[in-house]
Amino acid sequence: MTFDIVTIFPAMIEQPLAAGILGRAIERGVLEVKVRDLRDFTTDKHRVVDDVPYGGGPGMVLKPDPIFRALDAIETERGRAVTVILTSPQGARFTQADAKRLSALESIVLLCGRYEGVDERVRERVTEELSIGDYVLTGGELPALVILDAVARYVPGVVGDDASVAHDSFSRGLLDFPQFTRPPEVLIRSARLSGSRGGAAGRVLTVPDVLVSGNHAEIRRWRKREALSRTLARRPDLLAGASLDEEEREILSELQAGRMAGPQKVGE
Ligand code: SAM
Repeated sequence: MTFDIVTIFPAMIEQPLAAGILGRAIERGVLEVKVRDLRDFTTDKHRVVDDVPYGGGPGMVLKPDPIFRALDAIETERGRAVTVILTSPQGARFTQADAKRLSALESIVLLCGRYEGVDERVRERVTEELSIGDYVLTGGELPALVILDAVARYVPGVVGDDASVAHDSFSRGLLDFPQFTRPPEVLIRSARLSGSRGGAAGRVLTVPDVLVSGNHAEIRRWRKREALSRTLARRPDLLAGASLDEEEREILSELQAGRMAGPQKVGE
């Protein structure tokens, strides 16, 4: 899968993509990411990409013509029409379902806005407009990275174990179950535990017995119960759209009826 990211700050994209799972996927050629400096598509000596808004008011607006030239160049290079995503706080809220849907595409262009955003006419070339949340950032680079990262995790070969993506929070409409790793016991010290301003009290935190029991059927059921219980407590809105198997439906009705205990607390 290919991503083209149009930005006036290429370093904001290049550096984060040099490390981690995405960095390795790019190195192995599973993903191709090209960062396009919008200034390379200007035609004036000063490589100007922004201008004052018509009608007056604060801030600057990204000019439409360099963006159109960048999109033309990308389409020519890719040899096909491309899906263009404009990052924008005014767009539809980006979800895990969008990440999965977009991962089926061959190539995506991500447009990073800046200042007051892009000239409205740019929207004529935009396939969809996505927001990463109800807050305003200084530019589209972080949203572009967020979208790229979430979409790329669905591209086969990017994440080592595809099953881990299937288990992730939101993948099936459920939050993920709690995870533990070694050591089996860990001591935490915190002034908060003692409830006083004085010295820090200590407490040993253990791992739920079931996870070290070796009983895989029990572990599977415990994980289902924890995922359901957590979703019920934290994001009950997700349950309406969750795809549950028969066992999960049964556990959920037990939890809802309050017949089962809540999640096992760490260290108990
Ligand atoms: N004046 C614009 C508005 O109120 O819609 C906000 C412009 S913002 C300061 C500059 C750029 O940051 C936007 O064009 C967009 O590319 C990006 N951006 C900011 N917040 C975002 C969000 N929540 N989701 C996606 N992109 C965002």
